[in-house]
Amino acid sequence: MKFVYHPDAVLHQPATYFNRGLLRSLPEKPERMDALATVITRRGHELIRPGDYGYGPLAAVHTPAYLAYLETAHARWTAAGDMGDVVLPNVSRMQRTPSYPTGVVGQTGWHVFDTAAPIGAGTWTAARAAANAAIHAARLVAQGDDGSAYALCRPPGHHATRDQAGGFCYLNHVAIAAQSALPLLAQQGRPARIAILDVDLHHGNGTQDIFYDRDDVFFVSVHADPATFYPHMAGYAQERGEGRGEGYTLNLPLPVGSGEDAVLTAIADGLRAIARFDPAMLFVSLGFDTFADDPLAAFGVTTPGFAHMARLIAAAGLPTVLVQEGGYAIDALTANLDSFLTGYGV
Ligand code: ZN
Repeated sequence: MKFVYHPDAVLHQPATYFNRGLLRSLPEKPERMDALATVITRRGHELIRPGDYGYGPLAAVHTPAYLAYLETAHARWTAAGDMGDVVLPNVSRMQRTPSYPTGVVGQTGWHVFDTAAPIGAGTWTAARAAANAAIHAARLVAQGDDGSAYALCRPPGHHATRDQAGGFCYLNHVAIAAQSALPLLAQQGRPARIAILDVDLHHGNGTQDIFYDRDDVFFVSVHADPATFYPHMAGYAQERGEGRGEGYTLNLPLPVGSGEDAVLTAIADGLRAIARFDPAMLFVSLGFDTFADDPLAAFGVTTPGFAHMARLIAAAGLPTVLVQEGGYAIDALTANLDSFLTGYGV
């Protein structure tokens, strides 16, 4: 397994976000990077620095207006005067919003769907660094002999839609990387068909949204039931894709409080569906926030449980790109990734 990481990922440093009526400390901290990188170097692996793949792969997934907004939002927000340290929305899209807003406050309401995606001075640089890591990992697997790669991404990505940030996410790294791999597969005469398995605690609403009408990317997500859990607006079992994409989205929500066995059983079910799809590559949105002691705790996965999860994924026998998503128990992240890599056999 190859490991890809860009140190600029720590430059995203907003301290606060607004949740359930309170301004709270942001659990998605730069220290997460160190906790995860430590495991990789301790296990004797090299941290590969990704190249810069420019705007092309980002624009294949996100809209030009959204990318321009993300790149300029913090500077414009600060220049407006009498603003907080971080960009947070205080308006949202109205039912009928005929005009694309021209000001930074209006555009923030347009492009940020909740109050959990604060944009700071380094957010764009960090998100681009993380996207480049995921693209690089995808290229290593799509073009190389090595069957797997891990992209140490931060901030995470799976909540970001085509033109909206939310849930600590700005660029959808797994979607960008998967989309960038499709032409590489086609060039090699391999089936341009990819599966994405999302095992983060939260539904990957952004990834689902991006590929919802596509039949070449099969999206499977195991997550806490949106009836009572974030992202609340997506992830119900009846969401199965639309148009050509009907049947190519599989949501496996589990009740809040589900234990490790239920989570692993659902992941095994998801992997069986992926095997029937017969993809050329597997991408995994890998979150460790299913951990029993995560501050966002809703599932009961233990540290040894992540080794079981990795064995299930490795047993699929597919060229695999692991993309880091959530996981906020910083003191346990090292042990949880270590357990996962042991289970994966690398
Ligand atoms: Zn999550």
